[in-house]
Amino acid sequence: MTEPSRSDTPDLQTNPPAAPRKRRPPRRVEVSRVQILSPAMRRITLTGAELQGFEVSDPASYMKLIFPEPGQLEPERPLPDGPRAKSMRTYTPLAVRPVVCEIDVDFVLHGEGPASSWAAQAQVGQVLFLMGPGPGYKLPADAPAYLLIGDDSALPAFETILASLSDTATVQVIMEVTGSAEERALPDAPHSAVQWVVRGLDNTQAGQALEAALRQSPPPAADTRIYVACEASAMRRIRQLLTGELGVDPSQITGRGYWKLGNVNHPDHDYGDDS
Ligand SMILES: Cc1cc2nc3c(=O)[nH]c(=O)nc-3n(C[C@H](O)[C@H](O)[C@H](O)COP(=O)(O)OP(=O)(O)OC[C@H]3O[C@@H](n4cnc5c(N)ncnc54)[C@H](O)[C@@H]3O)c2cc1C
Repeated sequence: MTEPSRSDTPDLQTNPPAAPRKRRPPRRVEVSRVQILSPAMRRITLTGAELQGFEVSDPASYMKLIFPEPGQLEPERPLPDGPRAKSMRTYTPLAVRPVVCEIDVDFVLHGEGPASSWAAQAQVGQVLFLMGPGPGYKLPADAPAYLLIGDDSALPAFETILASLSDTATVQVIMEVTGSAEERALPDAPHSAVQWVVRGLDNTQAGQALEAALRQSPPPAADTRIYVACEASAMRRIRQLLTGELGVDPSQITGRGYWKLGNVNHPDHDYGDDS
């Protein structure tokens, strides 16, 4: 039997095993308002005293929402270090109003799925549990230009990014939605241009309208920071289009797979670095 080589042996002095990540305690929240923004988008306001201390420092941060299982009126409160709830999904805290303990969340109604189905029937007084927040997009301090490429699931994240940009930054947004009735006003950024492109109802086409629009735009300049958030395979294709045909340096790109065609509960940390 051969001895493990030096490089196979964990170096416990310089690389001690990571301490288990401590989960923040779940917070019980109630629906206090439901707004129909468009045929496929609901804005739901969640309220509750347990939101005290919930703070978000970066745009495009995320949180976990736990939905009731079939037959439950409200989800069970998860134990801090217990098993993960089956009906837990990832959402963007769109607007956080700490003084009144409120958060707005925009839900895409895409069809089947515990989160989308729940949002389609949401009513004032219904209960969810919320965990987080998780980290968001660290805006590079002095970037003069941004390009945001994404689909409707990333509309809330893009709103938070637009609201955080400096007055001097220019920003181009390419946003894919299922139909033109989904278009809406986004936060005013002084030098912004928003292009809406339509996917239609066939989700197997996800990302194709984004790729076509990108090919028709001038290639991004070397000082443009690019944020891509959409269906996971589309995000990878867009990364490849940017770094291949369009000659963008990979360091300019931040990628996020927000959902994956045919997969339930796509993970919250799919960055597409493998593409
Ligand atoms: C960091 C982060 C932030 C996010 N923020 C938001 C947000 O603010 N608002 C929002 O609406 N979504 C957001 N998402 C996406 C959301 O987490 C997923 O869409 C999630 O899968 C929805 O759960 P579900 O229970 O409805 O469907 P699931 O049970 O997860 O999936 C069921 C089926 O629906 C399909 N599906 C899932 N999502 C979509 C979609 N958007 N469009 C078309 N088909 C879909 C899946 O491929 C699967 O076949 C975010 C994701 C991440 C990673």
